[in-house]
Amino acid sequence: MQIKAALVLLVRSVAYVCATTLILCAVTLAQVTIAQISDTHIGEKRAPHAADNLKMAVQMINDRHPDAVILSGDIGENPEAWEKAKGILKHLKAPLYYAPGNHDVHSSDVDRYRGAFGKDYYTFRVKDVEFVVIDSELLGNFDSYDAKKPPPLPPATEEESERMLDWLGHLRDEGDTRTARTIIGIQHIPVFHDRGFPDPKPYWVINDPYRSKEMKLLHQLGIKHMLVGHWHNGRVFEREGITWHVAPSTSWLPWGGELGFATQSISPDGDVHTEFVPLPGATQ
Ligand SMILES: [Zn+2]
Repeated sequence: MQIKAALVLLVRSVAYVCATTLILCAVTLAQVTIAQISDTHIGEKRAPHAADNLKMAVQMINDRHPDAVILSGDIGENPEAWEKAKGILKHLKAPLYYAPGNHDVHSSDVDRYRGAFGKDYYTFRVKDVEFVVIDSELLGNFDSYDAKKPPPLPPATEEESERMLDWLGHLRDEGDTRTARTIIGIQHIPVFHDRGFPDPKPYWVINDPYRSKEMKLLHQLGIKHMLVGHWHNGRVFEREGITWHVAPSTSWLPWGGELGFATQSISPDGDVHTEFVPLPGATQ
């Protein structure tokens, strides 16, 4: 009788250990970790230490072993600076995905970016999470920092804009997007201010009519989290059913805060937890 009880206990213990291991494995498999670098601004006069800071970020990110790295725009000020950035970023161990910023793509030169980096809007997959990279520079003209009203896009870029929105509208029918457990968006420019931050200029956000068009499509895709940059200030806020994760800059601080990068842990249920990682001792 005692032997039988001991056997039952043993079987139960083994079953418990197996179940726990399986659950742990499943959780580990579905957890996705991302490192987000933003606004590296190589070649920018206001950021003489931009290249050194980026090197530090690359090293710190490698130590953290993320599943993927994203660079959410304002990579460099000209094609030569892009090459310098690429030379530093090639030391990343995890795969790197770029999104263009308004210092990379202006109102009528998207082809130059495409020649250097490939597609400016596309999707990529990490485990069961689908990422949608959007070119926010096709959703407004951000050439003028001081513009009081959002300036229009030139007609040829307006056509590019319509093509991208059409692509975004049809993503739901595509296999990869359909089977993804979670869809996360990435773009340079946030769609909304954060309670007036940084300031009321249209330069800081996506403005109408693009804002309403984009928001409709993001909701259609079931996107609940957007990874963005442009503000050089790490913050997380919620607007219209989407959480906006703004990564800090590695290059310079027009609005205070700390130079650094962001990491995101994406849980199996699609929740995103952002941590801001400062670059110790970095100067702008
Ligand atoms: Zn920017």
